[in-house]
Amino acid sequence: MSQMRKDVFSGRWVIVEETTTVRPSDFHFKKFVRETTFCPFCETNEASTPPEVFAIRKPGSRPNGPGWSVRVVPNSNPRLRIEGELGRRGEGFHDLMNGVGAHEIVIETPRHDQNLHELEAGQIADVIRAFVARIVDLERDKRIRYVLAYKNQGEEAGAHTITHAISQLMALPVTPRTVKTKLMIAREYFAQKERCLYCDVLQQELTQGKRLVAENEHFAALAPFASRFPFELLLLPKTHNSAFSRITEVQIDALSRILRDVLRKLNQTLGEPPYNLSLQDRPFLRPRSGYWTTIEEDFHWHLEVLPQITRISGFEWASGFFYNPVPPEVAAKCL
Ligand SMILES: [Zn+2]
Ligand SMILES: [Zn+2]
Repeated sequence: MSQMRKDVFSGRWVIVEETTTVRPSDFHFKKFVRETTFCPFCETNEASTPPEVFAIRKPGSRPNGPGWSVRVVPNSNPRLRIEGELGRRGEGFHDLMNGVGAHEIVIETPRHDQNLHELEAGQIADVIRAFVARIVDLERDKRIRYVLAYKNQGEEAGAHTITHAISQLMALPVTPRTVKTKLMIAREYFAQKERCLYCDVLQQELTQGKRLVAENEHFAALAPFASRFPFELLLLPKTHNSAFSRITEVQIDALSRILRDVLRKLNQTLGEPPYNLSLQDRPFLRPRSGYWTTIEEDFHWHLEVLPQITRISGFEWASGFFYNPVPPEVAAKCL
């Protein structure tokens, strides 16, 4: 079991493991060891994972057997667990609650030898469909406020020791602070101008074109003006929508093509860089969070791709500032 603790100084929530038996030797810094022998995520090894919570399967195939294109399973070593009550409470100055939530693994392909960018667009579309289905299902759990969907590609980006192509999904009882900050800024902009900040930025970037990396009928990929990381990318739907789960089939098709396209460009330009990919979605609209009255109009869901080719130093951790040696205009040109 874990606890969620709130830092009184920064407002940040931290997941802290509840254990009294820590062996310091377990935390000795060690080089990344790759699991080379057995992979629980490969087709025919389905029995090695917890039972699937979602899969896209060939007609006639059985759950937890072969015959799938995408499979979602609970993480066998989760940071948060779905059982139990939240038990929100205080301890003097400090706020904490039980580590209730869900931690799931989206297995992006039955094959061991392919990365996300090497998949066909149709296969990437199935991965997107799996995320939609899981988010729609988790929204029914009233304890959950937010689902964070993300991918760690490469060891420097915190990837799993197993090299099979996967992404992850963390269902949280609180909205992450980084998302909250974005929501507040979007709401303030909307209050002043009665327009969506993301729609406005997208319009300007499409007109100027100097930071545009790729574009199709429904999506645009750009290098954000204040990119924190070299070759950072922002993918935006061209039609305003606050919630990713309302994506249409036509948009799924377009998103799978542009995502494949930009990931291939990154890999061609930077030689298989480690990266983090995340979905920045709106939180679930719970009765208690009624203070986001304009969220449907002011927030615009998007994807972030953050290549991890520079090291985060003490300066970044301490200040929250980032130093980026590659201007986004140059990154856009290279890509
Ligand atoms: Zn595998
Ligand atoms: Zn918008």
